[in-house]
Amino acid sequence: MKAIEKNFRRVTPYVPGEQPKKAGIIKLNTNENPYPPAPGVSRALSGLSDGSDMLRRYPDPGAQELVRALAKACKVKEDQIFPGVGSDDVLAIAFMTFFQSGRPILFPDITYSFYPVWAQLFGIPYRRPALDENFRIRREDYYGENGGVIFPNPNAPTGIGEPLSFIEDILKHNQDTVVIVDEAYVDFGAQSALGLLEKYENLLVVQTFSKSRSLAGMRIGYAAGSPLLIRYMNAVKYSYNSYTLSTAAIRCGVEAVKDEEYFRETTRKIMDTRERTAAGLKELGFAVLPSSANFVFASYPGIPGRQLYEALREGNIYVRHFDEPRIGDYLRITIGTPEEMEKLLSFLASYIGGGRA
Ligand code: PMP
Repeated sequence: MKAIEKNFRRVTPYVPGEQPKKAGIIKLNTNENPYPPAPGVSRALSGLSDGSDMLRRYPDPGAQELVRALAKACKVKEDQIFPGVGSDDVLAIAFMTFFQSGRPILFPDITYSFYPVWAQLFGIPYRRPALDENFRIRREDYYGENGGVIFPNPNAPTGIGEPLSFIEDILKHNQDTVVIVDEAYVDFGAQSALGLLEKYENLLVVQTFSKSRSLAGMRIGYAAGSPLLIRYMNAVKYSYNSYTLSTAAIRCGVEAVKDEEYFRETTRKIMDTRERTAAGLKELGFAVLPSSANFVFASYPGIPGRQLYEALREGNIYVRHFDEPRIGDYLRITIGTPEEMEKLLSFLASYIGGGRA
């Protein structure tokens, strides 16, 4: 190590899913939406380059236009919305803002692998209660004293959603710390906790435009919470970067939120394809966890997860595999178009020799 490095911060970063440059692959590895964003989004983008002032000037630091649209969609007040550069940005700010007690925060042993990375980056102690044998969160594990709670609903990478009664039970047992429900995948059939905001000042619901609104590349996420929580998050945000969302992101976000019909149609298509994919996988002999997300988590008895992952990759089908305890034999498969999922199923059928192909 060079002398200069001695005083540098050393961290083990999160590893995002691969974004291969190769053409012609079926990309089912990062939970992107297979459909384009709402038609208004491309109109908003072309409006940016028409010689107006929109790119020359700084964006609105509060992204008010987007906040207004989101407040309406979430049925909350404008001072209850905090927008950010994807939900990763929003979650990182929430960790920095709310998990300052010095007591361990709690999140499941199998969950979004960014949580431990932020905890380490910000020096937050944490504990990771184990999911039960069916990969469900055990609510009792979140009853004791803690520095805060965070979990995704539906959970990732399992896809399993818990009902509102489960979320409320955890909130009832944690009135003095902040409980963050990461709803990155909620629009694919799970119940949102937005309706509980009226009752619980310590609840923060985080959502994203990356999955159900097809805007992963534009980087838009937001939190909905009590005015108290949002005020504290804004103070932290304005302490390190005031211009987070670009003008393009604000404009595109507004158009995406406005188009309810397109949103319903595309999320419905993905849910239908998910159910057909899960049935097809089960027919081949896969074990498939019940998913309320835009992906399924599946394993095949007798074939290691890594082997399947590599075979699929050879066949130009990219899925996600986690080399981690208990889930090493599973594949996380994003739901693509019906045609893409058919190709996946026939590839697997011939690989396994199940006679489908
Ligand atoms: N939460 C969960 C559970 C996720 O899987 C992801 C996607 N990697 C995110 C948050 C972050 O998504 P984004 O930053 O694109 O909004």
